[in-house]
Amino acid sequence: MNTATLPDHITGLLVDGAWAMPHSGQWLDIVAPAEGQVFGRIAAAQQADVDAAVTSARRALSGEWGRLSAAERGRLLSRAGQIVQDRAEELAQLEARDTGKPIAQARADITACARYFEYYGGAADKVHGDTIPVQNGYFAATEYLPHGVTAHVIPWNYPAQMFPRSVGPALAMGNAVVMKPAEDACATPLVLADIMLEAGFPPGSVNMVTGLGLDAGAALSMHPDINFISFIGSSETGVAIQTAAAKNHVGCTLELGGKSAQIVFADADPALVVPTVVAAITQHAGQTCSAGSRLLIERSAMDTLLPLIAQAFSQVRVVMPDMDGQLGPVVSMRQKTRVERYIQMADDTGLPLIAQGQMAPELSRDGYFVQPCMYGPVPRDHPLAFEEVFGPVLAVIPFDDEADAVALANATEYGLVAGIWTRDGARAMRVGRQMEVGQVFINCFGAGGGIELPFGGMKKSGHGREKGWEALREFSAVRTILIRHD
Ligand code: NDP
Repeated sequence: MNTATLPDHITGLLVDGAWAMPHSGQWLDIVAPAEGQVFGRIAAAQQADVDAAVTSARRALSGEWGRLSAAERGRLLSRAGQIVQDRAEELAQLEARDTGKPIAQARADITACARYFEYYGGAADKVHGDTIPVQNGYFAATEYLPHGVTAHVIPWNYPAQMFPRSVGPALAMGNAVVMKPAEDACATPLVLADIMLEAGFPPGSVNMVTGLGLDAGAALSMHPDINFISFIGSSETGVAIQTAAAKNHVGCTLELGGKSAQIVFADADPALVVPTVVAAITQHAGQTCSAGSRLLIERSAMDTLLPLIAQAFSQVRVVMPDMDGQLGPVVSMRQKTRVERYIQMADDTGLPLIAQGQMAPELSRDGYFVQPCMYGPVPRDHPLAFEEVFGPVLAVIPFDDEADAVALANATEYGLVAGIWTRDGARAMRVGRQMEVGQVFINCFGAGGGIELPFGGMKKSGHGREKGWEALREFSAVRTILIRHD
């Protein structure tokens, strides 16, 4: 049984390099989704706590943190990554309990977490500007500067990955950060912030404020003394974040939702496509921004490939976090209600149920479990064909030819990722280059791709890029210097 919990000294507010109590004296329970039970508490930060965190970050920029060289910043990030590796099992257990995901997935998330620190630790002293040939008698150069205080609001689905993915490049560039993790799953980010202290990050360089989005999140994103916002979450909250950024004339990156298509042509290799298509919607109970939630399948493959995918889907097991299986519960009762509303709608409107996953008999009665469902053919005007469910629900939609597949894939408001499955290389390229998305996978599929690959959306899926080298550009501003020397 998983009994991982937050250490007592981690109170939810990290300000000036020390854990602090909330000004309001208010706390929020944290709940283990697989158990439906409270297993700790976090501070409910309000405006005064956010003010203190932003002031702490501002002070750090003119203090020890601001004086570090790029190489020294990189060394601190690399050290944090090493500590994450050393404490990997403890972190994985906490992540599994807090998010509900199976322990194997949580372990993979901690491996990715360490890799983010390693990547951005190595990158910190390698971002440099250019010289630009201009008129005779002049010398022109560019340099990359930190924005200053950066605000980071992250969601609850992959907190152990989101923390280093968001603050890693910001710190590498010399910003001082204030993070607001999601109230539904924030235990691992809090321990990671503690690890940053252990690694030697100077006071004020890393600050944390836990609490509700409408209180702490709104206060942080609207704060007049922040210089940039990095947000990952729903498209609706993305609008509030972008509005706040606009009012303060600061930039933001938004990594929002998706309704990503897996386009399967009849010549696709079943050995590749079958397990991957199933995993892409069932991983973390479909609560992945880049989940492959639409299976667009060539009509002629409805009798060949589709039964194989349905068979694999029906083998998927919903399990407790300490068991072997493909998925655990969804994160909260609110999320369970939302997902089950879509399932009810599918049933009420008579959508054919193609396959269902299995529920392990060991599941706790109080956990927020949802049985995975695969429906199809789903009419193109049905909400399941274009709305984000954020649960283990796969919509199967047949297409007639290549042009139809492209039109269908692009026919939602979202544009995060797309997967293309075919043995015809030229077709894969043609289709891939017409996708209105930020990432295209050909004969493979990965949630977000990898630490090194720029990730982000088009359309309602947001703008700006996280991960990879691009993120270092987002967390910095270019200054151009022109020198006359004739
Ligand atoms: P939200 O976008 O509301 O939450 C994401 C983060 O934003 C959380 O830290 C939240 O805080 C915070 N937040 C909420 N409101 C504000 C605000 N006004 N100002 C600043 N910060 C705010 O997502 P939900 O948790 O409500 O999930 C709803 C849906 O969003 C899901 O069903 C899914 O469709 C989508 N989603 C997409 C994600 C992605 O990875 N792209 C991740 C999560 C959700 P808190 O939760 O503590 O209140």
